[in-house]
Amino acid sequence: MVRRRVIKAIPVIIVVLALLVTAFSCGRQSGDSEKIGVAVTILPLVEYVKAVGGDRVNAFAMVPPGANPHAYEPTPSQIRKLAEAKMYVKVGAGLSFEVAWLDKLQAVNTKMLVVDSSKGVELIASVDRDEPGADSHIWVSPLNAITIVRSICQGLIQVDPQNEASYIKNRDNYIGKLEVLDRDIRERLKSVKNRQFIVFHPAWGYLARDYQLEQIPIEMQGKEPSAQDIARVVDEARAKQIKVIFATPQINPASAEVIAREIGGRVVFIDDLAANFTENLRNVVEQMAEAME
Ligand SMILES: [Zn+2]
Repeated sequence: MVRRRVIKAIPVIIVVLALLVTAFSCGRQSGDSEKIGVAVTILPLVEYVKAVGGDRVNAFAMVPPGANPHAYEPTPSQIRKLAEAKMYVKVGAGLSFEVAWLDKLQAVNTKMLVVDSSKGVELIASVDRDEPGADSHIWVSPLNAITIVRSICQGLIQVDPQNEASYIKNRDNYIGKLEVLDRDIRERLKSVKNRQFIVFHPAWGYLARDYQLEQIPIEMQGKEPSAQDIARVVDEARAKQIKVIFATPQINPASAEVIAREIGGRVVFIDDLAANFTENLRNVVEQMAEAME
């Protein structure tokens, strides 16, 4: 009996403690709560929002590091945080996480402004049969990023018009950096003759389009490829003298290793979802250039 009473009391204690902690931390972190909460779907968009919003925003991604935005489900604590956000930056273009969750997230926070990153971006067709329609990986090209950053800036001005001048200044600064990145990528790839690369998950379609590369995907319908698919890629790699299979850290593909062994090549990991977008993209392009040369 005593034990049962204790167990019954535990949830009450937890709630009281939670309330105390909340009250205490709210008091202490007043600086943070004055910031404009901006939720985004994936980590690269955090960099874009911070670049424009600076210290005025508190940007956070719904799909955390290491998770797959084609399959992720948000946690209750993330949804509580979302309820406080003033703005949501979605990728758009049919990204599965948003197709499955955005309506539910908007129901939790009906007042937040939803900014669509894909607005104004010229979309290309998806080669991933699991996500038919448009290729949703729009953020991987600096040229798309410039369009996305403009939309984010408009959104921030809408939710916080007082600081318009600062947002515009930050936006133009960051677009300047993206233009330098674009020039550097062009320069790095100028001498590359064999412009085809094999990748497990087809996340690099827009980068390929904007810099005249060809992405050859292995993954089919978001699943491990069949023996036939593997044989097809091995033949293609041999014919095109490709020695590197690119894979993403979120997906651990046994088949990438199999193909690499078959062609006497290696697997190299590149991440389309890294938080440090500009720095990461320089590294990705360097890896691609080395693989294609
Ligand atoms: Zn993807």
